[in-house]
Amino acid sequence: YIVAEYQGESERVRVAVRLRPKNAEDLADADYAECVELQPELKRLKLRKNNWSSESYRFDEVFTESASQKRVYEAVAKPVVESVLDGYNGTVMAYGQTGTGKTYTLGRLGKEDASERGIMVRAFEDILAGISASDSVEVSYLQLYMESIQDLLAPEKINIPIVEDAKTGEVSVPGVERVKIRNLDHFLQLVQLGEVNRHAANTKMNTESSRSHAILMVYIRRSPHEKEETDIGQQEEIPTGQRPNSSNLGKHKSLAENSPHIPTRDSKLTRLLRDSFGGSARTSLIITIGPSSRHHAETASTVMFGQRAM
Ligand code: ADP
Ligand code: MG
Repeated sequence: YIVAEYQGESERVRVAVRLRPKNAEDLADADYAECVELQPELKRLKLRKNNWSSESYRFDEVFTESASQKRVYEAVAKPVVESVLDGYNGTVMAYGQTGTGKTYTLGRLGKEDASERGIMVRAFEDILAGISASDSVEVSYLQLYMESIQDLLAPEKINIPIVEDAKTGEVSVPGVERVKIRNLDHFLQLVQLGEVNRHAANTKMNTESSRSHAILMVYIRRSPHEKEETDIGQQEEIPTGQRPNSSNLGKHKSLAENSPHIPTRDSKLTRLLRDSFGGSARTSLIITIGPSSRHHAETASTVMFGQRAM
C-alpha cells in the first residue's frame, strides 16, 4: 500500500525477508521444530502452521540463514544508496521480533571481521566513495522511546520535538546534533558511541530494547554547483498506514529497524519517516525472523507486516 512516484514510475517499497540461524535457545530446545521453509530461487517463504497446513508468501528477496552480509547489502540497500547519491530520499528499515537480527543486519560494525559489517557501515563506505572532496556528510543518531526522542550522540538531550515546516510540510528534528563526518573511522566511532549511550539510557530507564527504536540519519550535502542534499537513517520501527506524499526531488535518506507489536498510525516515527515515503523516495524493508515454531505467532505477524508493505 505504500506507493511512491520515482522518476515518473511507480515505486513501491521493496521487501526482503531474512532468516537468522538457530540460536542457543533453539539448540537447547528438546522440542525444537522449524516453522519456516525458504525457497530463495522462487523468492518464496512457506510458513508452517502445523503438520497439515502451511501458507506460502512471495517477497522481493528471500535470504536464508547462510546469506552473507555483503549479499544482503548489495541486493537490498545498495540501490537505495545509489539513488541517494543521485539526490533522492531513501530509507532502509528492519522490522522483526527482538533477537531476530535487526541490529545484526543494519548496525553490525564488524570491527574484527569486515565481512560481518552490516548495512550502515557498507552504505557509509559507498557514500564516502561516491562523493567528492568538496561535499559534506553529516549524521544524526537518535532513539525513539514511547513517543520521546533522545539524541544518542548527546544523551542529555531528551524529549526533542519534531518540527514540521508549515509551508513545505517537511519534517525534521532540529534539536538533534548533526555531526560532520571526516572518514569511515570517525563514523564507526560515532555509531559505537551511540550504541553505548543507547544501552546506558535503556538500562537506566529500565526499558526493553524491543520498545526503543534507533534511527541513524545521514545527510549528504553536495558542493554548491550541484546543490543536492540527501540523508540516510537507521532505526527500529516502521510506521503503518502511511500514505505517500507528493514531495519533489528528494532531500534525505534514512535506515530503520523495528519491532512488530507497536501500533503507530500517527506516531513520531511515522512523521519522522514520512519524507522517506515521499514522491521520489526509495525504500527497502527487511523483515527479520527466527526459525523456531515456538515463535510462530510473532513470525506470522512479521510476515504479514512485510506483505502489507509490498
Ligand atoms: P535484534 O536487533 O532484532 O533484537 P540482534 O541483531 O541483536 O537482534 O540479533 C540477536 C543475536 O542473533 C545476535 O547475537 C546476533 O549476532 C545473532 N544473529 C542475528 N542474525 C544473524 C545472522 N543472520 N547470522 C548470524 N548471527 C545472527
Ligand atoms: Mg537490536
